[in-house]
Amino acid sequence: MMNSLIDLRSDTVTRPTSAMLEAMFKAPVGDDVYEEDPTVRALEQEAAARFGLEAGLFCPSGTMTNQIAIKAHTEPLSEVVCEQNSHIYLWEVGGIAFNSGASVALLPGERGRLTAAQVEAAIRPVNVHYPTTSLISLENTHNRGGGSCYDLHELEAIAEVAQRHHIPLHLDGARVFNALVATGQQATDYGRIFDTISVCLSKGLGAPVGSVLLGSKAFIQRTKRIRKVLGGGMRQAGYLAAAGLYALENNVDRLADDHRRAKQVGATLALQPYVDEVLPVETNLVIFRLRPEMPADQFLARLEEQGIKAASFGPQMIRFVTHLDVDDAMITRLEDALAMR
Ligand SMILES: *Cc1c(COP(=O)(O)O)cnc(C)c1O
Repeated sequence: MMNSLIDLRSDTVTRPTSAMLEAMFKAPVGDDVYEEDPTVRALEQEAAARFGLEAGLFCPSGTMTNQIAIKAHTEPLSEVVCEQNSHIYLWEVGGIAFNSGASVALLPGERGRLTAAQVEAAIRPVNVHYPTTSLISLENTHNRGGGSCYDLHELEAIAEVAQRHHIPLHLDGARVFNALVATGQQATDYGRIFDTISVCLSKGLGAPVGSVLLGSKAFIQRTKRIRKVLGGGMRQAGYLAAAGLYALENNVDRLADDHRRAKQVGATLALQPYVDEVLPVETNLVIFRLRPEMPADQFLARLEEQGIKAASFGPQMIRFVTHLDVDDAMITRLEDALAMR
C-alpha cells in the first residue's frame, strides 16, 4: 500500500476533522453584512475576549486582516515601521502601497525580531520632507525568522516607545497562538501591549478559512467599511466562523505537539552531512540551509519520491512546517527519508 502523503509545505494545508465539520454543519447562521450571523459574532467576541480586547472582525484571510488594520491606522504620505522580511511587506503583494498609499521603514531584525531601540530610531521627526510615522507593526511568531518568538520584555519596551510617540502598535499574529504556547506568555498581555492583533485561524489552528482582526470597539467599527470595499463582506459566514470557534476551543493546546515534533526534526537535520545550518527551532517552523553538494531541487525531489512535500524557502533554503495533519508516525517516516540512504 502506498504511504499517505506527508505535506510539510505549510500549516495551511490541514483539512477540517469530522468534529470540526460537524460544528460547521450545525452552526446557526444569518447574513453577516447585516450583522445578523450569531456564529460570526460569537467567534469575534470569543477571540477578542481571549486577548482582553473589545471587538473582532472576521475576514477571509490574514492578508485581509493585516491590510485592513494598516489602512485603518495609516493615511497616504505616512509610513509603517516594520521588519524587512515581514509578511505585511514581503508577502502581501505590495498591499501597503496599493491599499493604503503608505511608505515603509524597513528594519533588519534578528530572525525577524526588532528591538525597542531600533523602532524608536526609525520614528520620523515631524518635517515637511518626511513621511509621518503612522504605525509600528510586529510579527510574532516570525515566519522568515523560522518561527521565532519575541521576549515579553522587548514587546513591552516597544509598546512603551509606541505610546510615548502616540503611534499605534499592530501585531501580525498569524501564528500568535504558537508564540503563546511556546513561551507561556498570556494572551491578555498581548491585548495590553498591542492596539490591534491579526490572528489566523487557518494556520496551526486547523480551520479551513479565516482570520480575525482584534481591537477596540471604535477601531473595529471603522474597519467594517474597509472590509466591505475590499470585497470581504461575507453573508452566511457562520459556517466558516464555526470552524474558527471549534479551533480556538480544541486546537490551541495541541500546538505544543507540533513544536515538539518540529524540534525533533530540527535536531535530526542538524546531524545530516548535507545540512549546512538549521535555524533554532522555537515553534512549528523548521528552516534550514543545504550544503552546495545537495542542490535544493534534488533534495525536494528525493523527499517527493517518499511521498513528502516541503517548500523551497530561498536559495538552498528549505522550510518544514508541522501541523495538525502530521503525527508521530509521519515524523518517523520523515526522519527515515532524511537519512538519504
Ligand atoms: C499566513 C500568514 C499571514 C496571512 O496569510 P493568508 O494566507 O492571507 O491568510 C500573515 N502573516 C504571516 C506571518 C503569515 O504567515
